[in-house]
Amino acid sequence: MKTDVFASRHIGIREENIQHMLKEVEVENLEQLIVETIPEDIRLKEPLELDTPMSEHEFLGHIEALSKKNKVFKSYIGLGYHESLTPSVIKRNILENPGWYTAYTPYQAEIAQGRLEALLNFQTVVCDLTGMELANASLLDESTAAAEAMTMLFDVRSREQKKTGVLKFFVSEEILPQTLSLLKTRATPLNIELVNGNHEEFDFSNDFFGAILQYPGKYGQVHDYAEFTAKAKQNDIKVAVAADILSLALLKAPGEFGVDVVVGTTQRFGIPLGYGGPHAAFFATKEAYKRNIPGRIIGVTMDTDGKPALRMALQTREQHIKRDKATSNICTAQVLLAVMAGMYAVYHGPEGLKYIADKVHNKTKILSEALQNLSITQHNTAYFDTIKVSVENAQIVREAAEKAELNFNYIDDKTISISINEATSFKDIIAIVKVFKILKTKVINEDFYAEADKITAIPASIQRDSPFLQNEVFNSYHSETELMRYIKKLERKDLALNHSMISLGSCTMKLNAASEMLPLSMANWGNIHPFVPIEQAEGYQIMLKELAKNLTVITGFADTSLQPNSGAQGEYAGLMVIRAYHESRGEGDRNICIIPASAHGTNPASAVMAGMKVVVTKTDERGNIDVADLEEKVTLHSENLAALMVTYPSTHGVFESSIRHITKLIHDHGGQVYMDGANMNAQVGLTNPGMIGADVCHLNLHKTFAIPHGGGGPGVGPICVAEQLVPFLPGNPLVKTGGDQAITAISGAPWGSSLACLISYGYIKMLGENGLTDSTKIAILNANYIKERLEGKYDVLYTGEQGRAAHEMIIDCRPFKAHGIEVTDIAKRLMDYGFHAPTVSFPVAGTMMIEPTESESLDEIDRFCDAMIAIREEIDETQLENPNNVLKNAPHTMSMITSDSWEFPYSRQKAAFPLSYIEDNKFWPSVRRVDDAYGDRNLICTCAPIEAYAEVE
Ligand SMILES: *Cc1c(COP(=O)(O)O)cnc(C)c1O
Repeated sequence: MKTDVFASRHIGIREENIQHMLKEVEVENLEQLIVETIPEDIRLKEPLELDTPMSEHEFLGHIEALSKKNKVFKSYIGLGYHESLTPSVIKRNILENPGWYTAYTPYQAEIAQGRLEALLNFQTVVCDLTGMELANASLLDESTAAAEAMTMLFDVRSREQKKTGVLKFFVSEEILPQTLSLLKTRATPLNIELVNGNHEEFDFSNDFFGAILQYPGKYGQVHDYAEFTAKAKQNDIKVAVAADILSLALLKAPGEFGVDVVVGTTQRFGIPLGYGGPHAAFFATKEAYKRNIPGRIIGVTMDTDGKPALRMALQTREQHIKRDKATSNICTAQVLLAVMAGMYAVYHGPEGLKYIADKVHNKTKILSEALQNLSITQHNTAYFDTIKVSVENAQIVREAAEKAELNFNYIDDKTISISINEATSFKDIIAIVKVFKILKTKVINEDFYAEADKITAIPASIQRDSPFLQNEVFNSYHSETELMRYIKKLERKDLALNHSMISLGSCTMKLNAASEMLPLSMANWGNIHPFVPIEQAEGYQIMLKELAKNLTVITGFADTSLQPNSGAQGEYAGLMVIRAYHESRGEGDRNICIIPASAHGTNPASAVMAGMKVVVTKTDERGNIDVADLEEKVTLHSENLAALMVTYPSTHGVFESSIRHITKLIHDHGGQVYMDGANMNAQVGLTNPGMIGADVCHLNLHKTFAIPHGGGGPGVGPICVAEQLVPFLPGNPLVKTGGDQAITAISGAPWGSSLACLISYGYIKMLGENGLTDSTKIAILNANYIKERLEGKYDVLYTGEQGRAAHEMIIDCRPFKAHGIEVTDIAKRLMDYGFHAPTVSFPVAGTMMIEPTESESLDEIDRFCDAMIAIREEIDETQLENPNNVLKNAPHTMSMITSDSWEFPYSRQKAAFPLSYIEDNKFWPSVRRVDDAYGDRNLICTCAPIEAYAEVE
């Protein structure tokens, strides 16, 4: 074996397995399988033009050298991003640990209690610091969270306001510029009218439904918003506040002055800047809005034995159910980053956080004092970590600062703001002062330390006096040994890719190679602020341009934007680009978006957010788009047709042969074709969205391009577009990016989650054309192999014209209802066999969608098939009349198996060790089946005091 070829490490199937597998699927060779799977008219004839692959060793050298092209200055730019210190124990045991980063979204709660607890901690941190009742388990970034707050408040307008069509939303001029841009993007399609101004001059007139304020303001001034909030309430205007999480250790919690929503980022809780992301944003609100809150909420419930257990609460609000009634499309969030930020609070505890906040604040006061001693005017009367100063010539300051490798925020020719952070030392403060000293003759009063102590920069009325993080979990793990063990304890409860295959259809849980992940820990990638002058980020610029170029080649399009932070955000971005394109041609009335019934729930939700009307088209009995029905709808809506959203290969796991006919039909009627790229793993190197006639697609880099799922994020959802759409690619208000007629921002940072892009960059660079194409072929082979092995045991719902699956397949579990067995029972029983269930009930209720990916070995795939076949036999043994069986009781915990009493009509051996391979590698679910309904009726979404747990028991 060639030990320096990365493809042979990434792909799990050995050369010598292939013959056996081909025989099982009854083809001569791989080429024949591909010919039988992908329609002839869309197969690529030429190989992709990509660089020759690097070995892992070469890549690591290359990426380190490239990182050196980034100039790591001390950035005091602020604007929502601050240098922070990641505790090494968190970096090593979470960020660099596949037990955490390869986990899937915790839909299977019984084998996800660890990350569910970590997320409950995160929610508790957010609730406590903001003073709110309910928080979700993260959003994509602060700006997105602010936009979600606006749309939620729009959605919960009073009946009166809805009747009279109240559309105005007040945005304080203190809001961060990138947030303002994003609010504009989101407001336009909903006809929300933004009014930007000074909150002290706001007149509270009754044509406003809501307002958003920044706390502290964008250049550091802290305002007392109590009066504003009270007046707003009197006038039925709901108030959202975008708050700095660290400042809340010292500032009055927004909940205490009665706001309705608090949003912000937790980046400064130990998450690297990463040139913009990924970071976890938070969204906290009142209990009253629990049914309207976007994203996922973790809640407490109990298991079959009445023991406390966690799971995702209120799942009925998910877009899969709400579809075009959903007001938010968020699916993938920032779970791994939320876990890290929550753990930062666990490690430091309330006193540690207060200590850090005090340190930051005191240094800011010292800096303020020192600059005033140089007779520089400092404007902020109340501040936490940011001062705003006047200078004669900001350009001269800038030159001196950059020479000293410091970045400030240059507001205009004469005004600068400087934000201090956890990593700022006294030496750093002196270095900042020096920059200004050069420009001044007056001698600095060396006693400014003592002077600073006497200043009150936070007036009493806005000082925090309420406690936070009183729960045990935040007061227990303050030594490294203790935290290391706590992290391990949680990790052990979770089944991730480092235990076994997670064959999640549509989610492509492939290998996230260590060499792809290592660069994330390199300081020269981590410590770059997203708004630094572009020359300081040369390494990033090279990497991002190259990644965008490669994705453009792979999709067969003209250009790519890396800005969206998830697949769903990519969908929204793509549709907004289509909207801008139609408008530019004077066809702004085109607002109909046709979506097949089988589409992922984010599709209709995104279309509605983009101001489009959803028309659903049918699928036929073979799972394909019903072309006759589509033709009818397209003709009917010809004049207003904006787009078709189509997933390819379809969510049914089939390469529809009519796809070119379909895309042409849409074009003939003036529409654009949006391709959902979640299934790109079946296309790379063999066909592409450009070839099938699409105009734009998003990619889920966290599916096809090796970014780990992180337990539900981070994601990166770039959009790749055809020539006519390039001018409209999204921009940023502070840094030039996107097209010449760029739409306003889709996410806060100009290149979204740049740090995570390194993973996909590595993936492409190390696999090259051959490795990528082989990956696709093997992914298809693996799926078809599973299909053959399960033949006769499970019905595969849909196949292509020649009986082939693409890279995934749907098996029908509905017939087992005759035995009283539901698809959930199979999912839970798989846990006893050491497997995470495939995708349950998407896109068809009562089914499972299996996607093995190319990274699994034949042995692992066979174990999975053995487990599925054994379960099928167990189903045959069960009778409808007797629900006391091994499936209904699954999963079986260690405490059940080792209990002195055993009252089940099957053996312990059968319950926990039904196949021999399990003895060697047993995974124990930590709780019995969780009760979802109980949890939703008794919603608890923060770490409850210990008494609450006692009550449940
Ligand atoms: C995963 C997925 C999405 C949404 O992507 P996120 O990154 O979770 O927002 C959209 N469509 C399909 C078909 C998917 O599988």
